[in-house]
Parts: sequence; C-alpha cells; structure tokens
Amino acid sequence: MGYAEFYRRSIDAPDAFWVEQARLIDWHEPPRRICDDSRPPFTRWFVGGTTNLCHNAVDRHLRDRPDQPALIWVSTETDGERVYSFRELHAEVNRTAAMLKSLGVGKGDRVLIYMPMIPEAAFAMLACARIGAIHSVVFGGFASVSLASRIEDAEPKAIVSADGGSRAGKVIAYKPLLDEAIRLSRYKPQAVLLADRGLAPMERVAGRDHDWAPLREKHLDAQVPCEWLQSTDVSYTIYTSGTTGRPKGVQRDVGGYAVALAASMELIFQGRAGETYFSTSDIGWVVGHSYIVYGPLIAGMSTIMYEGLPIRPDAGIWWQLVEKYKVTVMFSAPTAVRVLKKQDPAFLKKYDLSSLRGLFLAGEPLDEPTARWIGDGLGVPIVDNYWQTESGWPILTIANGVEPKPAKLGSPGVPMYGYKVKILHESTGEELVRPNEKGVVVIEGPTPPGFMQTVWRDDERFVRTYWESIPGKQVYSTFDWGIRDEDGYFYILGRTDDVINVAGHRLGTREIEESISSHPGVAEVAVVGVADPMKGQVAMAFAIPKDSAVLGDAAAALKLEGDVMKVVDQQLGAVARPSRVRFVSLLPKTRSGKLLRRAIQAVCEGRDPGDLTTIEDPSALQQIKDLFNP
Ligand code: ATP
Ligand code: MG
Repeated sequence: MGYAEFYRRSIDAPDAFWVEQARLIDWHEPPRRICDDSRPPFTRWFVGGTTNLCHNAVDRHLRDRPDQPALIWVSTETDGERVYSFRELHAEVNRTAAMLKSLGVGKGDRVLIYMPMIPEAAFAMLACARIGAIHSVVFGGFASVSLASRIEDAEPKAIVSADGGSRAGKVIAYKPLLDEAIRLSRYKPQAVLLADRGLAPMERVAGRDHDWAPLREKHLDAQVPCEWLQSTDVSYTIYTSGTTGRPKGVQRDVGGYAVALAASMELIFQGRAGETYFSTSDIGWVVGHSYIVYGPLIAGMSTIMYEGLPIRPDAGIWWQLVEKYKVTVMFSAPTAVRVLKKQDPAFLKKYDLSSLRGLFLAGEPLDEPTARWIGDGLGVPIVDNYWQTESGWPILTIANGVEPKPAKLGSPGVPMYGYKVKILHESTGEELVRPNEKGVVVIEGPTPPGFMQTVWRDDERFVRTYWESIPGKQVYSTFDWGIRDEDGYFYILGRTDDVINVAGHRLGTREIEESISSHPGVAEVAVVGVADPMKGQVAMAFAIPKDSAVLGDAAAALKLEGDVMKVVDQQLGAVARPSRVRFVSLLPKTRSGKLLRRAIQAVCEGRDPGDLTTIEDPSALQQIKDLFNP
C-alpha cells in the first residue's frame, strides 16, 4: 500500500486503522471502543482496554530477549558506562517500584523526577508507569523557581532526585536547588528519594529524605506486579519548553501513547527489535520520554542514554558510540548539529557508521545548509520531523516504514497517519487549499492516539489555549505558520508570534534567518521584529560569525554585515533586509535549544523579557542588552 492510501484509511476509517496498530502492544483486557470523541475537543482512545507502559517496555521482552541490552548508559561527564539487559532493567525497575511504594506512592499519585541523565531516572519513570503513579519529569538543572512552580502544579507525593549533575565537567549540585524549591513551594512532598553519585555534598531532611542505595538494598528481590491501568488513565505530565511564555502541563494517557509509540517505531523510525536506538535528547523533554525511554524499549530495542556534550571529549563522541553499539536509528536536534558544524568535519568520517540507517532531527526548523552538511558528512538520510510536546510523536515527517518517499530539503514532510493537518487563515479561519498559501497550521479533531489529553488539572486552559484561537472553528492550533506545496509537503515558517510586519509586508523570521545563514561567514542567526516608528516593525538580526575574530574587529563586522544584507536583498528582496546585523558569540536559547526570540525582541524594544526560567545561558541575552546600552 502506498502512503497516500495508508493515510486516507487512517482518516476515513480510524477505528479499523488503529485497531490494527493496537495489536503492536500487549493488552490485559482489549479495548471495547477504539475512539471516543463524543465530547470534543477531548478524545479518548482504546476505551475499556487495560494495559501498562512498563509491561510493554520491559516485562514482555523477558521471554524473547532477556539478555539483550535494554538500557545503555554512557556518561562522558563522570566517565561512566553501564549496560542493563532487559532482565537487569526489570529487576531495577521492580526494586524502584518497591522503594516508591514503601514511601507511600500508589496509583494516581504524582512523582516528580528531577534528575540528571543517569539510569536511575529511567528506572524511576518506568517504576511509576509500573505502579500507575503519574510521573512529571522536570529537566535537571532548572533553577529553584522553575522547579517550585512545577512542584506546586503537580503536587507530587514524592520527588526523585540526585546529588547533582554535570555539564562540561562542571558539577551542578541539585539538592540545594531542590531544597530551595520545596521551601518556595506552597505544596510540600512527603518524601524525597535521592541517588547519591558522589558528585556534590547533600544535606538530608530527617523523615523526608531517603537515600537510594540503602533503600534499594532492602528491596533487592522485590517483585512488584504491573498495575493494569485503563487506557485512558494518566501516564504522565510534562511541561512544554516555555519558548513562548508560561509552560503548559501536558497530560498524556497510557494506552493511546503506547500504541502511538509502537506504531511510530515501525512506520516512521523503522527501528527493529534487537537493534540500537540513540536519541541525544534529555529525559526532561518529550523526545526523551518518547524516544529515549518508552518508544525504543516498547519496540524491543536497546536504547542509549547519554550524559554529556556532543563535543566532549571531542566532536567524535556520538559517532564513536554509533560504531561501538551499532546504532541503527539516531535522533537529535538541529541545534546540536549546528554545534558540530563549528567543529572539524573530519570527525564525521573517523568511525564506522555502516550500521546507521538514518538521522532524525526535530525541535526547530532544519535549515538547508545544516541538513546538507550533516547528510553529506554522515552519508545517511536526514529525516526532519515536526512535532510538539503536546503531540508526543511526529505530526509531519516521512513515513519510510510505509513507503519510502523522497524528502525535500526545508520541509519536514507530510501529515502523519491519524493527523488531519490543515492550513487556515489566521483571522477568517478559512481553509487555505491552494499550494503555497501561508496560514496557521492546525489539527482537526479527533486527535490521534498519543496526543495530549488535556492540560493537567485545567481542561479550560486546554480548550481556551489550543482550540479557540481561530475564529469560528474548533481546531487545535499549533501556533506555527506553514505552507503546503503542490506535492502536499508542508513547510514550517516559524511561530505565529514570530512574524515581522515591515510596512505592511508580513515576513516570517525563519525565511530571513534561512537567507542569512546561507552566507558562509554566518554560523547561526536569530531574527526578530523590532518596533519602528516609520515602518511599524523592522527586522533585526543577531548572528554568530564563523570566524570569532569578527567579534572584536569593527571593520570586519561592518563588512560582514553589508555582505549579509546583500544576500538577503538578492534572495528575498530589500523589504526583508534587516535594519542591522549585529554579531554575538552566543544566542539566547531555552534549555532544549530553541531560540528565545521573544526575549531578544523585548530587549531590543527596551521591555522586560518576561519569564526566563527556561533560558540556557543568561549571558547570551546580556550580550544583546550590552549592544543596546554600551
Ligand atoms: P512553548 O509551547 O512552551 O512556547 P515550545 O513550543 O518551544 O514551548 P516544544 O513543544 O518543545 O515547546 O516545541 C514545539 C515547537 O518546536 C513547534 O511548535 C515548532 O515551533 C518547533 N518545531 C519542532 N520541530 C520542528 C521542525 N521539525 N521544524 C520546524 N519547527 C519545529
Ligand atoms: Mg509550543
């Protein structure tokens, strides 16, 4: 069957389509109803079915592959490497489940996981799934204020954490941040479980804090049966990246998510049982949930959990892991590839990458030069895929597992099965059906399995935020601009709040950024719209030069600025030419690597940049401030 027909069936006969996908996982009791959309925009999948994510990720592989590596942990921060077979993973998850139970955690209770990238973090997630506790993983290293707001929102009975993490060899003590967060939070957890890596000193609060190792000793032989959960029960909550404002607590189910991941492993990633999957993300993000922990394990693959940077000890570290563990499928983000692009390309050729079949990239627009650079360097297909924390798995990409289709540079691809993706006019709500008409990318309900159920404890915010932004239509807005070409391929042109209106011309920041980054002297660039009394708005560009000497050399900077402007003039026309191109050594990004354009824009306009809890490095924003107030 070709993809077009496969897709049509998923839309025209969703029940028949998803019943088939549901066979990819184990059910304790089969679902009675496949899709219940009687109360839009809420969609319930596999109603009446009972299952368990941990059973599907771990237990069911004990029969066929007990000794195959399940979790491969590598840390270039602490020089650690540990491999857990499915049998060993099963034992650790049982121990952790027993530990959580001993701390009073039961079905429906929340457990907040604030951990570095260590195996215990995966054990804790799977243990929660096993006993029906709802995990809420918060990216490790977030400071106390961000953590406190998430503790208040999730109200966890227990928090699982560690003494510290490490980044670029520098230890970050987590425990003081956690203690401060709990102090700030109006809600207090009953228990804190702490993995001690020997990285940072920890003060324990008597009666509340428990050490992992001694507690584990007490539960070495624990056998904790999987709790059979309703498909529609809550598996976890996770916060969006906070690129555009206050993070939203995305709530996900059990059965729909398990089926969506199992299907995506086969149809999109083509990962096979027995092979190795390597996602370079962090468990704090949705990619880490879906494609470090649950997806690969559900598919019976070995999964690599990597703590460290892509360039330490050198820029060959990822490829060394690909060779060593015969990775077949890899998942990363454009931002990470751009980091590698600043390094010697010889690293891409240093190791045997013959096992690798593809590199999937998601999280932000993949510009053509970056895609070409990594694709040529590795000699494997690069698969752009577009999705959101809210969706849990790709919305737009190429489903090579159904039918190999050529990718188009700059496009993440076509709508995935189950997703009714449309482009609507942002103010009239009219559907734009002609090729290359630009509008808001929306999804019509019912949303497919795996998609968010609601905003945690806030159905109203879910409806108001996502389903009521287009006048007269109840559709889910992605808040991204897009077009669809004559072949049905989508192009994402940036976020709906990232549009610049120069004298009545509406320009996407992404288009201008693409143009600027095609200049060989530019490594990376951010474009924002800045209020202008004459033109309404003007485009302003902040670029990282390839040659850092430009930063200290006013004449060189002026020359490069002029050259960049010429490129934009030629490619997009003078209307898109930025009023200035300023050079910086670093751009402000979220911890997940997304450009914080709203913060740059605020600084350029002399406003308060607002919620910056998810910023990676505040000094990046300071550089921009300094350019304005030297
Ligand atoms: P918040 O919603 O809190 O502002 P966020 O949108 O950055 O944060 P995520 O869910 O992590 O949180 O990111 C999803 C967004 O990332 C998408 O809506 C889109 O803007 C961008 N994105 C993801 N993948 C791609 C891609 N392949 N191409 C272009 N943009 C992408
Ligand atoms: Mg978002």
